[in-house]
Amino acid sequence: MLFSLNPEQIAIRDMARDFADARIAPRALEWDEKKHFPVDVLREAAALGMSGIYTREDHGGSGLGRLDAALIFEALATGCPCVSAYLSIHNMVAWMIDVYGDGAQREKWLPMLMRMDRLASYCLTEPGSGSDAAALSTRARRDGDHYVLDGQKQFISGAGNPDDFYVVMARTGEAGPKGVSCLVVEGGTPGLSFGANERKMGWNAQPTRAVIFEGARVPVANRLGAEGDGFRIAMSGLDGGRLNIGACSLGGGQSALDKALAYMKERKAFGKRLDEFQALQFRLADMATELECARTFLWRAAASLDAKAPDATRLCAMAKRVATDTGFKVANDALQLLGGYGYLADYGIEKIVRDLRVHQILEGTNEIMRVIVARGLVGR
Ligand SMILES: Cc1cc2nc3c(=O)[nH]c(=O)nc-3n(C[C@H](O)[C@H](O)[C@H](O)COP(=O)(O)OP(=O)(O)OC[C@H]3O[C@@H](n4cnc5c(N)ncnc54)[C@H](O)[C@@H]3O)c2cc1C
Repeated sequence: MLFSLNPEQIAIRDMARDFADARIAPRALEWDEKKHFPVDVLREAAALGMSGIYTREDHGGSGLGRLDAALIFEALATGCPCVSAYLSIHNMVAWMIDVYGDGAQREKWLPMLMRMDRLASYCLTEPGSGSDAAALSTRARRDGDHYVLDGQKQFISGAGNPDDFYVVMARTGEAGPKGVSCLVVEGGTPGLSFGANERKMGWNAQPTRAVIFEGARVPVANRLGAEGDGFRIAMSGLDGGRLNIGACSLGGGQSALDKALAYMKERKAFGKRLDEFQALQFRLADMATELECARTFLWRAAASLDAKAPDATRLCAMAKRVATDTGFKVANDALQLLGGYGYLADYGIEKIVRDLRVHQILEGTNEIMRVIVARGLVGR
């Protein structure tokens, strides 16, 4: 077992970090304040191969592994966790098309997803079903060679853009997970509409909207996998999605720690620099240690997913819980180390805290991560 990155992985991480430093970090506060979704910058990232990191290469994907993806999302999140997290959702959807799409579907959709001509959204949550996703009620009724969709998805990241693309879990059969199918709904489909952009605590550099289906006709040819496979497909996407969001939390936490370190070198109290107080040095040491523990474990979970290990889902759930809790705690501790200045927007840390808070909630709440882990322990 090797615990070091190879030269190619170091180059990938450095490329993403350089991009974050040059193209994301300088404008992250402005995008947060103006609620601006930087689609142009996302497309620049796509041109560098970051739209289909673990999508196969035949239609323009980068063909890399989950650890490579974790390195990239952590690096991008040092610039802005919210931008990195949207890109991670796009990658998750692209991977679902790559793995579960047939030849024609892959050929039709992957090239435009790789260029980010289309921005992908993942539509599972509904107003009446979040954690209990298998209770979803959006209905897809078969009508000849189409499905007719009626229902509503809630909290959909990236939704409502002119260049949108939705992977939607809808009920085609019985109650419960086996009655769910996975359908691609392309932007512009009649009967597809959106709620207002939600007002949120953080994650302001990407829109979150309800996605509404009222008699939306979707070709049967847009179904991924067989009827009834949808829930399994949705959950398999989330294994990797959870690693990605965990990596975004590590990047945010690392950036907050770095900002606190820089500040403490300059700021004086009681005749000393802040970084000369041992109590604060111990806090910094704990923050760095906790980040390193979470990072090392996330990489182990990523390796297990690449290897299709039988316990990969459990390890991904553990890693998501640990990495998102750690990233948030470290960022919040960093805010404290700046005193009152940590609370001011210009210092950049309060935005990171606001952005990272939601990582403990989405892609499965951290309580649901514990449900997954506990199920393996008590055998239910
Ligand atoms: C900004 C944002 C973006 C999002 N983006 C997307 C997206 O792109 N696509 C998408 O499909 N969804 C998205 N979501 C939805 C997100 O995945 C859900 O909010 C999340 O899964 C929780 O569902 P819920 O909000 O309905 O909470 P509930 O399921 O109602 O849960 C409420 C509370 O009860 C707890 N709880 C529920 N069941 C259990 C249990 N069995 N044991 C212990 N505790 C439990 C939960 O952990 C939580 O604390 C997004 C959410 C937000 C806020």
